[in-house]
Amino acid sequence: MASAGKPPVERKFVDVRSGKQASGQPAPAQAPAAQSPTRPPEGSAPAVDLDAEHANRKAAAKPFRIVAVILWILGIVCEIVGINFINGNIYFPRFSQQTWLIIWLVLDFVLVVIGSQMWKRANHINPPSEANKAEYWLQTEAGVIVAIIAFAPIIFVLLNDKKLDKKTRQICSIIACVALAAAGISGVDFHPATQEDYDAAVQSAAQLGSTGQSTTTAPATVTSNDITAYWTTFGRVYHLNPNCQAIKNSATIYSGSLADAFAAKRSRECEFCARAGGSDVLPTADKVAADLAAKSDSSVTNVSNDASVAAASSYASAATTTAATTTAATTKKAA
Ligand SMILES: [Zn+2]
Repeated sequence: MASAGKPPVERKFVDVRSGKQASGQPAPAQAPAAQSPTRPPEGSAPAVDLDAEHANRKAAAKPFRIVAVILWILGIVCEIVGINFINGNIYFPRFSQQTWLIIWLVLDFVLVVIGSQMWKRANHINPPSEANKAEYWLQTEAGVIVAIIAFAPIIFVLLNDKKLDKKTRQICSIIACVALAAAGISGVDFHPATQEDYDAAVQSAAQLGSTGQSTTTAPATVTSNDITAYWTTFGRVYHLNPNCQAIKNSATIYSGSLADAFAAKRSRECEFCARAGGSDVLPTADKVAADLAAKSDSSVTNVSNDASVAAASSYASAATTTAATTTAATTKKAA
C-alpha cells in the first residue's frame, strides 16, 4: 500500500557486527513474495532460555572484566611504586622527585579510569542481579571503590611524610586528590542496569515475536542474540520495528542483536514499539503518525539485501498484518 506520495527519508542501516551498510532509499514496489512470513499465533511466541541468556551475557562481558581488573591492578601498582618512592625505598634517576611522583600519579589515574570504563561496559553487557544486594552494590560501585584504593593511601602518605619537600608535597597532594575525585566520578555508573531489567526486556521482545525469523524456522527458545534491535546515535532506547515512527526520519540506524543494543547502553524498549507490538500502525494510533509509518513500510523491501534488515522486514510485515492490513504481501522473501 501507499507506494505513491512523499518519499520517506533516505536511511542508512549499519549492522554493528559486520559493519555492513544498507540503504533504505525508496525504489519501485517489489513483486509479491510467494511465501510471506506471518506472525506466530497467540501463545506460540518463543520462550526465553534464561540460563543460556545469562551464560551468553557472562561470556560476552568476561573479556572486559579481565581487562578492567588488569588495568586496575596496574594502576594500584603505580600507586605502590609512588609510595615506595616517597619513602625512599625506590630510587629513580633522571627526573626530579616531584616529576617522578606526578608521573606515577598520572599513570595510576589513566589506568584506573580506563579500567573503570571497561568494567562499566561489562556491567552493561551482563548487569548484576538485584537479588543479591551486596554483590549488586559491589559490582555497580567497583569503579568508585578502586578509585579510593588507588589514591587514598598515597594521599595519606603524602600528607604525613615530613621529609618530603614542602612544595612537592603540596602539588602532589592536590594532584592526587583531584585524581581521586575524577577517577571516582568516572567510576560511577549513572544509568546502572540490572539483570532483572534485561531479562524482562528480552522476554518482552520475544513475546512480540521479533526474533527476526520466519515462523517455520522459529526456535522454541530464544536469547537476546536471536532478537534483532535498532537504535540511533542519540536515542536512548532500542526499537524492534525498523520502521518505527520514532526512527523513520533518522539518517543512520544501527542494527544488531538485542544483546548488542544492551551493550550500547540501549536497554529500554521504545514506547511506540512496545505499545504497538513492534508496529506503530494501529487503529488507535495518531492518524498522521500511522499514515507516515504505513508509507515507510514500502521502503522495507528495498533494504533486504542486508540479511539482518531483511529478517527485520519479515518481522515488520508480520506485525503490520496483525495490526492493520496486508502489507506482508509486498514484502520480499527474507534471505
Ligand atoms: Zn520504536
